[in-house]
Amino acid sequence: SAVIVAIDGPSGTGKSSTSKAVAAQLGLRYLDTGAQYRAITWWMITNGVDTDDPHAVAVAAGKPVIESGTDPSAPTITVDGLDASGPIRTQEVTSKVSAVSAVPEVRTLITELQRRIAAGARDGIVVEGRDIGTTVLPDADLKIFLTASAEARAARRNGELAGKEAADLAATKEALIKRDAADSGRKTSPLAKADDAVEVDTTALTLDQVIAHVVALVEE
Ligand code: C5P
Repeated sequence: SAVIVAIDGPSGTGKSSTSKAVAAQLGLRYLDTGAQYRAITWWMITNGVDTDDPHAVAVAAGKPVIESGTDPSAPTITVDGLDASGPIRTQEVTSKVSAVSAVPEVRTLITELQRRIAAGARDGIVVEGRDIGTTVLPDADLKIFLTASAEARAARRNGELAGKEAADLAATKEALIKRDAADSGRKTSPLAKADDAVEVDTTALTLDQVIAHVVALVEE
């Protein structure tokens, strides 16, 4: 039967790399839910919606058509049929995504989409995000909550930023702590560890060690 794995945690803990690799090794599909929130944020920005106005965001929330390709070796994200994989990684989207994803109407729509995708994955799926174990898929077979020190997370995130957007470490750390605080403090679906999640502190682990650990937990 289908295996559902939920992987949650703040940014810079290696969630995406871990989730993709675990899915590929186990023959499961892969869903990046952060990419979906980023995609709807990108649509709001390009369509002139004020992302600091929750009412405007709520009214527009149902308009964009978000589609996620769930092959772990080549995940895709489109908005109204357009490839959004590049634009969703800009600093503008990153700085606005917490506010957009805090709007309940946005969360309801995206959560329904995520549940449909998970239900359609015949052999199972690894779903990564912030509220997968607590809210989206509370009956997941395995829940992982990845953590790491703020220093380790900022260093990893800084290494991922391309070219001219590569900020200094202190600025990256500050932006990351601010986004985590916003994600943790919101009323609807905050970033939180499910009671039955296994917490894995990745600070002193290599990516390969984290992947092996999670694969072993799925196979247990
Ligand atoms: O994982 P990533 O950093 O791409 O997520 C971007 C943002 O999307 C998060 O900072 C958070 O505001 C939002 N998000 C969310 N719920 C999820 C996944 C992401 O609110 N399940």
